[in-house]
Amino acid sequence: MGVVGGHAVIMGGSIGGLVAARTLSRRFTSVTVIDRDTLPDGPHSRKGVPQGPHAHALLISGRKKLDELFPGLTDELIAGGAVPFDPGRDLLFHQMGGLRIRFTSGQLGISLTRAYLEHAVRRRVTALPNVEILDRTAVSGLFGVSGRVLGVDLDDGRRLGADLVVDATGRSAGRTERWLEQLDCPAPKTTTVKIDVGYTTRVMHRQGGELHGDALLYLMSAVPPHDKRAAAVFAVEGDRWIVTLGGWHRSHAPVDPEGFAAFAEGLPSPHVAELLARTKPVDEGNAERFLYPAARRRWFEDLKKVPAGFVALGDAICSFNPLYGQGMTVATLEAVELGRCLDRHGEATPAMARRFYRAASRVIDTPWQMSTSSDFMYPETIGAKGIGTDLMNRYVRQVMMASHVSVPAHRVMLDVQHLLARPAAVVRPDRVVRSLIGARRSPAHPASTGSGAAAGLS
Ligand SMILES: Cc1cc2nc3c(=O)[nH]c(=O)nc-3n(C[C@H](O)[C@H](O)[C@H](O)COP(=O)(O)OP(=O)(O)OC[C@H]3O[C@@H](n4cnc5c(N)ncnc54)[C@H](O)[C@@H]3O)c2cc1C
Repeated sequence: MGVVGGHAVIMGGSIGGLVAARTLSRRFTSVTVIDRDTLPDGPHSRKGVPQGPHAHALLISGRKKLDELFPGLTDELIAGGAVPFDPGRDLLFHQMGGLRIRFTSGQLGISLTRAYLEHAVRRRVTALPNVEILDRTAVSGLFGVSGRVLGVDLDDGRRLGADLVVDATGRSAGRTERWLEQLDCPAPKTTTVKIDVGYTTRVMHRQGGELHGDALLYLMSAVPPHDKRAAAVFAVEGDRWIVTLGGWHRSHAPVDPEGFAAFAEGLPSPHVAELLARTKPVDEGNAERFLYPAARRRWFEDLKKVPAGFVALGDAICSFNPLYGQGMTVATLEAVELGRCLDRHGEATPAMARRFYRAASRVIDTPWQMSTSSDFMYPETIGAKGIGTDLMNRYVRQVMMASHVSVPAHRVMLDVQHLLARPAAVVRPDRVVRSLIGARRSPAHPASTGSGAAAGLS
């Protein structure tokens, strides 16, 4: 690991900004993280991360990487109430008209609230001797000379010089483009995939025994293209269940408790309605709602001119359909890549930024391709559909159905989803044959039901 020295400023103190602070603290003499929000002392949701109260899955690859950056973090989180689980064994995964077969994967997942994870990571970052976190302070702009960022302007009139400024301010449209314009740098091309996803969330008390003793439930791609609903039910710290209901293309759950329960009752899996009927809400009021119109990717790697002393990271580069639970993991993996690129170049030159964007792009490619391809299972999805997407989706549907009866099919889906294996693993020739045979054994396969309920699946 090389030492760059000097001062790094990170705009945004959410997961992306915090993991970047960890990697930069090992390379810069001092690091300042700036967030416009009031950062809470405890594991509480906050205004600057409005998605915070909703179900947040931490992929296995993300958990492992966070543990490398913050040794002992997983154990600490479990000791504080995060629920450990095996994603093959302790999770009801309802997809394509059936439940995935159970098996012991040997992988360790943890289920927890977003606020609890962020709080634990923030505590670790706060304890780093060369990192300062300034909250209630907004960055109002960048300053520099043409092609080189020299620091940030704050809304209280102060100016902070920096050898590297990291934009971790999230997915907001236009903000990153404005930063770059100030420096005479072109804005990156942006791709959007319109999905109109809605999240509606209630938190329930957990007594034990609900969900037949399982820790999590996922309902995804119930039966596309007809059924656009989704559900995530996670056991989390504080003996609570986070129940998030919703779906693609305005298949959104109502916020009033009666409408919320009725939406659950209509789901293809009975488990969510059963859980709601057995448990009491932590808060009697209406559910929380979050609307997510489109996934967005900015192609920094294609820019002809990138400024020195500046990189974007996390949702500022790519904001994924949240239903796939990828954002925090990708931000973490990008922060690690940023460290590697700095080691290689020794300072924040345009060449370093370029290398970083290429590395970030390699991190993003797989989850972006997986999530947007799945989104195109719904004809209402609007965006640039990659060549071969429909063909691949037809095959993936077979693998999803095979996962109802075949452990190897479930394992490969799990590994790819958690970014532990590349999607190429799904199309290995031996797997193709086994998946196609396995799919026909699924009770949800049209050949089994004879009902055409899974029309479009074969
Ligand atoms: C509904 C929903 C559910 C999701 N579920 C999952 C999930 O299950 N798993 C998963 O991994 N990811 C999930 N995500 C994505 C995840 O929340 C983000 O990928 C993650 O927060 C990383 O984002 P970030 O740090 O880049 O930006 P953000 O989390 O958006 O944070 C940006 C930060 O910048 C600050 N800020 C903004 N402007 C300024 C400024 N001018 N000056 C100073 N500070 C500023 C904000 O206050 C905020 O703290 C979900 C997202 C949504 C919308």
